[in-house]
Amino acid sequence: MPLINTTKTAPIKLRLARDLVRTIKRGHPWVFADALRQTPAALPGSPAILFDNKKDRPIARGFYDVHSPLAFRVCTTDPAEPLDNAWASRQFARAAALRRMWFDEQTTAYRLFNGEGDSLPGLICDIYADTAVLQLDGDGPAAFWNASGIADWVAGALELKAVCLKPQSRQGDSGRALIGLLPIRPVTFLENGVRFQANLLEGQKTGFFLDQRDNRRLIGQVAAGRRVLNVFGYTGGFSVYAGLGGAGHVTTVDLAAPALQMAGQNWAINGLPPDNHLTVAADAFEFLAQAARQKKIWDLVIVDPPSFAPTKESVKKAIAAYQNLFASAATVTASDGLLAVASCSSHIDLPTFLTICEEGIAQARRRATLLSVGGQPADHPTPLPFSEFRYLKFGLMRVE
Ligand code: SAH
Repeated sequence: MPLINTTKTAPIKLRLARDLVRTIKRGHPWVFADALRQTPAALPGSPAILFDNKKDRPIARGFYDVHSPLAFRVCTTDPAEPLDNAWASRQFARAAALRRMWFDEQTTAYRLFNGEGDSLPGLICDIYADTAVLQLDGDGPAAFWNASGIADWVAGALELKAVCLKPQSRQGDSGRALIGLLPIRPVTFLENGVRFQANLLEGQKTGFFLDQRDNRRLIGQVAAGRRVLNVFGYTGGFSVYAGLGGAGHVTTVDLAAPALQMAGQNWAINGLPPDNHLTVAADAFEFLAQAARQKKIWDLVIVDPPSFAPTKESVKKAIAAYQNLFASAATVTASDGLLAVASCSSHIDLPTFLTICEEGIAQARRRATLLSVGGQPADHPTPLPFSEFRYLKFGLMRVE
């Protein structure tokens, strides 16, 4: 079955209006409509060749969506390379080889295809044991990639039972089975030898925050003997690592009751004593404010909120919100205790993130020492010049 829908269509010619040749050649995969000389009418996902702004020289091949501000996505910077099944399966095999470098039978959930980071624009594929979840980021990718063909390739290469396609926004359908049955029940998998279950269709992202894997491991290493508070805890990823790392007691806070129920289950399937885990369905901001009023403290506090800055315009407000949140978290952190904070906003870069940490800690009238800085793991690769794709920032501090 074809991996791409549009192999037979003649590519559309696009020309740059600005000199972006160098950054594209270095691996930046996006060209916005305002950087193109013309935006001819065409179906979303149409194959296209990009020409430079001076000499009429072809510089890249990719696909085009006239209706999106993100008009052109680069698949290859070799203009002589046709975008066909052979090209796609070469990229798929390269992506799979990269994951074999990192994961053994102790980690059976990982990101197989990370879109632009694997030269597969807009194509996400996450593996959970014998099940894969595909996601296509927008109309261009949805039209360009042939999800059924990709499902066949992935199921064959990894010997999977089921592959489903999950829409990015959850209005309407929750997912479609491409191979096997829809995973309506939670799927069990391993991460660094830790057992987890995830609800792939109802859960956030593709069911689990695979991107926090390395940071979860770090929390497991520093949790011994500590009383732990995990705010925005979702299904208890950080909590379970802390428990297995020897935490005395763990409290997991989240707004979503179904996620907390799964957190309890994840705690239990790792053989951890139920009395050492408390789940609290509450608004994180209210919980922290109340805990501060009651002068409660924890030895290790983890704060991993949803993105506060979904757009560039919202960055200023988001910075203030992160700062206030980190300040509240520092207030309930014991003296010489540990505070781990994260941001998954692509519009907030690492220096800004560290400044937010500094300001937040100062606002709480505390001082902190930075122990470790983390981000996305190796199965979430990003082209070097494409910093927008490095959305996850993670900092572990000792709060004095
Ligand atoms: N740390 C988690 C992922 C967190 S995702 C992990 O490693 O798996 C963000 C979580 O914040 C979601 O579970 C969402 O339900 C929760 N959330 C969003 N707004 C919230 C709020 N105001 N109070 C508490 N939880 C909230």
